[in-house]
Amino acid sequence: MFGYLHIKSCFHCLCFLFFCYAVHPGLLLSGQALAGQDKLQVIVSIAPQKYFSDRIGGDLVQTTVLLPAGASPHTFEPRPSQIRLLGSADIYMTIGVEYEKALLPRIEALHPDLEIAPVDHGIEKIAMTRSCAYDHNHGHNQDHKHHNHHEHGHKGLDPHVWLAPDTAMLIAENIFQSMAGAWPDKERYFRDNYLEFIEELNALDQEIKTIFKDLAPGSRFMVFHPAWGYFARAYGLVQVPVEVEGREPKPADLKELIDTAVAEDIRIVFVSPQFSKRSAETIAKAINGRTAVIDPLAEEWKKNLIAVAQKIAQAGNHSN
Ligand code: ZN
Repeated sequence: MFGYLHIKSCFHCLCFLFFCYAVHPGLLLSGQALAGQDKLQVIVSIAPQKYFSDRIGGDLVQTTVLLPAGASPHTFEPRPSQIRLLGSADIYMTIGVEYEKALLPRIEALHPDLEIAPVDHGIEKIAMTRSCAYDHNHGHNQDHKHHNHHEHGHKGLDPHVWLAPDTAMLIAENIFQSMAGAWPDKERYFRDNYLEFIEELNALDQEIKTIFKDLAPGSRFMVFHPAWGYFARAYGLVQVPVEVEGREPKPADLKELIDTAVAEDIRIVFVSPQFSKRSAETIAKAINGRTAVIDPLAEEWKKNLIAVAQKIAQAGNHSN
């Protein structure tokens, strides 16, 4: 796979295989000759994956993120130039976000040889946290129009698996397996990085537990887009979504959310940079609170998770 990439790039620069062989003697004899000159080219769907990939791939892997900063993985459509870019990669690591669904058949047609590694493999997905307004709309009357809207969204399962240390460990293992499979000579290097990263994830988990130590168990936090289901599960918290089936809440839903916020003594409504802040601001104003930003897609993944934990801890109900 590696040799293939190199030979192909030589055709791109209009030289010949013989020339490559002359410039890089040993290239055709051993993949190891490429070390230091070439890197394993990995494409990922979202920025946090690059953090994981960099940690495990170290100096031997170059990772490119498909989703541009600020775009939503629920609505993004890659440009033809980005799909072409995938053709020069060794591996595309998917993570189960929405836009991959339309992209994968196109990749299969254009680049049938590209290796696809689903790094969410083996993660048991939990149900997407629904807003209380959803239950109201769906509890008694079976409105088919509403059902269709829902089908359009998350299909009921929560795709945000990268936002907790425990699920990140499984993602890390899949990344390690994929890299080691693509470059068996460097298995040891990838394994060492992987094991070091697992230790770091354990330490991070402890650090977040410490941040939440004064928070009442089952403490609630209100957030526009409910991306924090795995995080909430890991730390015994409950997220209260503002969004209803991927949309802004209607006035009646807003009223209910405001009542919930008052009843639960919620003062902060979290928003993310990729989503609308309008209804969150309406709720915050009504409860005399404020909005605060938490980003589910920050590339500085570890720092971000600590910052999010601190913000949620500050906003939450304290047991003392
Ligand atoms: Zn999402």
